[in-house]
Amino acid sequence: MVDIMEYSKIGSIEIIVGPMYAGKSEELIRRINRANIAELKVLAFKPKIDKRYSDDSIASHNGKQVPCIPVENTEEMMAIIQQETFDVLAIDEIQFFDEAVIEMCQDMADAGKRVICSGLDLDFRGEPFKVVPPLMAMAEHVVKLTAICMVCKNPATRTQRLVNGQPAKYSDPIILVGAKEAYEARCRNCHQVIK
Ligand code: ADP
Ligand code: ZN
Repeated sequence: MVDIMEYSKIGSIEIIVGPMYAGKSEELIRRINRANIAELKVLAFKPKIDKRYSDDSIASHNGKQVPCIPVENTEEMMAIIQQETFDVLAIDEIQFFDEAVIEMCQDMADAGKRVICSGLDLDFRGEPFKVVPPLMAMAEHVVKLTAICMVCKNPATRTQRLVNGQPAKYSDPIILVGAKEAYEARCRNCHQVIK
């Protein structure tokens, strides 16, 4: 895979998208590691919402990880950024940030930073996920990864939400108290949302 902005002295936005299990965190970690090898100072963040595996690291489903700063929102991230000197700004699970993150990424790129984001492009309903579509439009470089569909083994572009083993309803709230929830990667044909 070619990271077209890797050697540029001009600021830019890169975004890595796809469903769960597509390898977005893995790819973000790879780019952070390469930036470290190139002796660039990397500042990495993720939203506090993501508690999987470890709290102060970006972690992939296959066990790779790099340190990061967990933050509540864009404001908290901005406050930290303003205190630091760095070359690369990396943000995992970008879909969980508020609208202000779009302007922040633009401002950082305009100020000469290399911004690398990763996150879900679609929610469990298969609809564009909040801040991600505008960032994809503004980015210099977009990579859309696929996972493997857990039903038919074709490339998966969607995230299937399962509640007590059944496809979630369109109207199901994001947090369902007491329900057993799971997510799996699925293709367009196998992805189901109950109306
Ligand atoms: P993401 O950040 O996109 O959720 P991760 O980088 O955390 O993805 O994890 C990617 C890893 O997940 C793969 O390298 C593979 O080992 C594992 N994996 C588990 N289920 C699947 C699947 N259905 N399709 C592809 N990879 C999967
Ligand atoms: Zn399928």
